[in-house]
Amino acid sequence: MNLVLPRLNLHAASDVAWRSVALRGWGRLGSAPCQAARPERLREVADAVTSINGRNIIAHGAGRSYGDAALNGGGAAVLTARLDRMLGFDAATGVLVAEPGVTFADVIRVFLPQGFLPPTPPGTAFATLGGAVANDVHGKNQHVAGCLGDHVAWLDLLLADGSTRRLSPTQDAPAFHATIGGIGLTGIITAMALRLLRVPSNAMRVRRRRVGGLDEYLDAFRAARGATWSVGWVDALAGGAALGRGVLETAEHAAESVAIPAAGTRSMPFDVPGLLLNPLSIRAFNAAYWRRVPARGEERTVHANRFLFPLDGIGGWNRLYGARGFHQFQCVLPEAEAPRGLRRLLEEVGRAGAASFLAVLKWMGRPGLGMLSFAQPGFTLALDMPARPDSRALLLRLERITRDHGGRLYLAKDSALSPQGMAEMYPRLEAFQQVRARLDPRGRFSSDMSRRLGLG
Ligand SMILES: Cc1cc2nc3c(=O)[nH]c(=O)nc-3n(C[C@H](O)[C@H](O)[C@H](O)COP(=O)(O)OP(=O)(O)OC[C@H]3O[C@@H](n4cnc5c(N)ncnc54)[C@H](O)[C@@H]3O)c2cc1C
Repeated sequence: MNLVLPRLNLHAASDVAWRSVALRGWGRLGSAPCQAARPERLREVADAVTSINGRNIIAHGAGRSYGDAALNGGGAAVLTARLDRMLGFDAATGVLVAEPGVTFADVIRVFLPQGFLPPTPPGTAFATLGGAVANDVHGKNQHVAGCLGDHVAWLDLLLADGSTRRLSPTQDAPAFHATIGGIGLTGIITAMALRLLRVPSNAMRVRRRRVGGLDEYLDAFRAARGATWSVGWVDALAGGAALGRGVLETAEHAAESVAIPAAGTRSMPFDVPGLLLNPLSIRAFNAAYWRRVPARGEERTVHANRFLFPLDGIGGWNRLYGARGFHQFQCVLPEAEAPRGLRRLLEEVGRAGAASFLAVLKWMGRPGLGMLSFAQPGFTLALDMPARPDSRALLLRLERITRDHGGRLYLAKDSALSPQGMAEMYPRLEAFQQVRARLDPRGRFSSDMSRRLGLG
């Protein structure tokens, strides 16, 4: 949350304190003024949902989605940050029962010393578990571990009428599968049981190697199929024979723990002026970054947080792109289409001179469980692009290429997908809408994203 305005007492009939706030996505592309409640108890969540006088409402976790998934301009939002209790843990099974505002960082702080990690950590530990289930997030181990939804034993969902339902693969499975990856549109997740991943230590043995171009990169990923964790940085501004060059990182859990790194104190104190971020400076940075890895590769043992969340050490790094903010484009393409599709995407971005140094390639092994889960087997490419007047047109061209190659865009990162693109990329959308109509017949759960995508 970025801007808190004075408290308004519009709803004196209930105990819920509503405030006027302006929420933003992580890409800082604009702000969405709305009424927000920040409940601490589950009873207050139900009060919030039933007391907002028929306005539409959406849950808002840590606001780490880049676009408008967690925004609801002109409506209401339930901020889940204070619903952050861990309710139970079974060390024999590794099952954690937690409220939705618990973050990955919280889970790691408590359970990594006991030999457990969250099963599919995304690239930031600041995401909440509720927000992460609602986007069915994946980690650098997607090819072996799937997505977060695969590790949820059950979840409690608060509906628009204030009642709560327990959902699981065997208790109203359609509602369970609509809520996993359901971008908050079925209700508010108020608790969940999550199977944590048992690990031998707090450390990872990380191998890094340069790859000279796209085809070599895809082959390197395939060769690293057996790796527990894998992720690649791409030099999105390299062209010609070097198109798609980058640095591939694979990692295994180390047998021995390492010292916990000191908490990061670096932060981005101001919006970086646009002039500093131009294709020339980024090209120079990318080339230097690529060369920094020795030609023979390198190996080191680091704390898991260093490998899993490399950007979390720099507070507010999203200010790097200046006051206008930035888009993240993330797509996944089926394996057979990836060589041609990724090439076309990188060429398009290169022509537009739009990329930054944050460009990531990952390999996905299996589809997500949810009706709107993003994951499908293939390669996923994520690119940060500073916002410019021509960004939307470029994003539309990238969407077109993604559609041509049978891929889909990731809603957690999205700010520009068209309703037609949504319908084509998410074939289970109709089934999702049917479940949603059953759970929320008056369509109370709604967001800027759902309205943009024509989801009602
Ligand atoms: C640096 C960075 C790296 C990232 N890396 C990855 C990655 O590797 N893999 C990946 O999959 N994602 C990644 N992401 C995206 C991020 O994991 C997701 O956007 C995640 O959903 C953010 O969680 P949040 O708590 O901030 O949720 P928010 O962004 O606040 O909300 C996300 C969605 O969840 C809904 N929601 C929130 N809480 C609840 C609830 N209690 N009940 C129902 N719905 C709810 C919201 O309505 C919204 O639709 C990354 C993001 C950043 C900033």
